[in-house]
Amino acid sequence: MRKIISQCLIRSSLILEIVGALIFIYFCHYVNNNKQKTIQIPTSVWSLRKNVSQQIRYHLRQNDEMLEEIEIRKPRSFPMPNGSHMHSESEFILGFTNYGLNIMTSRNVGIKREVPDTRNKMCRRKVYPANLPSASIIICFHNEEINALFRTLYSVINLSPSHLLEEIILVDDMSEFDDLKEELDRRLEDFRGVLKLIRSKRREGLIRARLLGAAHASGDVLVFLDSHCEVNRGWLEPLLSVIAKDSSTVVCPVIDVIDEFTMEYKPSPIVRGAFDWALKFKWDKVFSYEMDGPEGPTSPIRSPAMAGGIFAIDRRYFKKIGQYDKDMNLWGGENLEISLRIWMCGGQLLILPCSRVGHINRKTIKNNMTLIQAISRNYLRLVHTWLDEYKEEVFLRRPGLRTMSFGNISERIELKKRLGCKSFQWYLDTVFPELEASVGKMKEKSFH
Ligand code: UDP
Ligand code: MN
Repeated sequence: MRKIISQCLIRSSLILEIVGALIFIYFCHYVNNNKQKTIQIPTSVWSLRKNVSQQIRYHLRQNDEMLEEIEIRKPRSFPMPNGSHMHSESEFILGFTNYGLNIMTSRNVGIKREVPDTRNKMCRRKVYPANLPSASIIICFHNEEINALFRTLYSVINLSPSHLLEEIILVDDMSEFDDLKEELDRRLEDFRGVLKLIRSKRREGLIRARLLGAAHASGDVLVFLDSHCEVNRGWLEPLLSVIAKDSSTVVCPVIDVIDEFTMEYKPSPIVRGAFDWALKFKWDKVFSYEMDGPEGPTSPIRSPAMAGGIFAIDRRYFKKIGQYDKDMNLWGGENLEISLRIWMCGGQLLILPCSRVGHINRKTIKNNMTLIQAISRNYLRLVHTWLDEYKEEVFLRRPGLRTMSFGNISERIELKKRLGCKSFQWYLDTVFPELEASVGKMKEKSFH
């Protein structure tokens, strides 16, 4: 009996020890888990700030210049209603991470304002015909800062003669930010009757988003704008009047600068669009003879290339010359592709000094792998379609492109044949002789 009792005691103490050990392990795990939870929740504004600045540093690692500029130009404090300096700094950095601009000055400036008239005085005296073609303004956006977006819309409404404004077509390229969803729908009520909102069901990239907008347009002329622009006084009439005279002329306004830090609107000099053999876009000086005519400094300027998404084109002509290459993805290269196509296929591209549109040059992060791949592929599609033997010049500067795949371009080659487009040699001789070819020169030298 004693033996049985002692065995029972030993067993029960063993069970107790095991249960105790289990409770101990559970307790440790619980405490640990809770510790992790408290760390994950940003307990103070400071931890949020640190977190955000780490994030931006991580993203901008390969873009030190940009980060340096943000650091240098970061204001010490903002007059915030709650006087919270740290809060303003974190918002400032968050603004650049999400939108590429200073959201605090953008919010302070608001959704409507008057900008300085930056045109040459001679432009103000110009008279345009009353019966110009009508315009569909196409604005695509992806995760745009809402005040900048509304300034674009209000400036168009306020500074375009209503009889020339067929419609504004706003294309949401699947934005993710909350204020661009139901809140935007609600706030767009002000534009009822003049605005069409198209929401893309997937991220198309700006090239296909613009095609989507164009497919819904009914105006005579398509005017493309970015979603962070402010048009200036009398911006539309010069664009429409040139197209009214010749539907194969594509026109760009002068792009004024809206400072991404201060939102200050500043005039730009009259320059023309150019590019180098690495296909990098740049602004180039205008030859004085371009302004020698009777129109002087208000003369249209022949431009070898357009900067990006701010231009006007006859709607039917846009269709006729093959719109955009719909197989280009996301962003980049489409501006050069359409510029070459316009010139080489019988049109011309002009910058009109009397039309001015302000644009925020956002400090967006353009060095993520998906985007880099899309840009390279887009460039390759245009190189193989339009550059003929001069593609070697590009490969010389960007050897990595030589072996990359770029999809099927047979439709674009077919288009080039159908339109009877001229060669790249013709473009170099006639439109852009300043782009000197080293391969060509080398060939010439080896001949002699
Ligand atoms: N955009 C878009 N989808 C994209 C990328 C850009 O709709 O995938 C829009 C963007 O919101 C802007 C316009 O296309 O309104 C041009 O883009 P961005 O301003 O980045 O070009 P940049 O001015 O740098 O040439
Ligand atoms: Mn832009």
